[in-house]
Amino acid sequence: MRTSGTNPVCAESGHDRSGDSNHTRGELEALMGGCLCGAVGYALNSPAFAGFCHCTDCQRFSGSGRLPFIGAARQRMKITGPMTSFAMTSGRATITRHFCARCGSPVATEPGSAPGFVIVYAGTLHEPDRFRPKFSQFTRSGCKWSPPDPRLPSYPAAAPQG
Ligand SMILES: [Zn+2]
Ligand SMILES: [Zn+2]
Repeated sequence: MRTSGTNPVCAESGHDRSGDSNHTRGELEALMGGCLCGAVGYALNSPAFAGFCHCTDCQRFSGSGRLPFIGAARQRMKITGPMTSFAMTSGRATITRHFCARCGSPVATEPGSAPGFVIVYAGTLHEPDRFRPKFSQFTRSGCKWSPPDPRLPSYPAAAPQG
């Protein structure tokens, strides 16, 4: 097949992101992210909730004072790449955490307390500033050196969702 260097039809097909009008739609556009080494990537649409968790499990899991998380329905999330997973029962719920099998970055979590949802962490977004936290939860367990964001509603235990 004969190919020409400049095909005006292909040039208009929308692959050039800088000229794509969809790029300005903000929250409707998929959130993309991945692990430290790049082997695992994800894309999610229509985040259902986003906030900071100050619970002791999140502190131990992350080594930090709070975790910035985004949750979406499982069918809204696409994850690719090699992962190692660990399931743990905490209270009445079993939580499954998925890590990149090559670099160990925490990629996604399936919380037993919210079946059908998958959580990712805002620091793994390709564009972390697209994180739009709405609340802080489990602030009763918070560390003095990582206080809740004063601009957001805070809940001493789990935030009411939905
Ligand atoms: Zn990795
Ligand atoms: Zn937590």
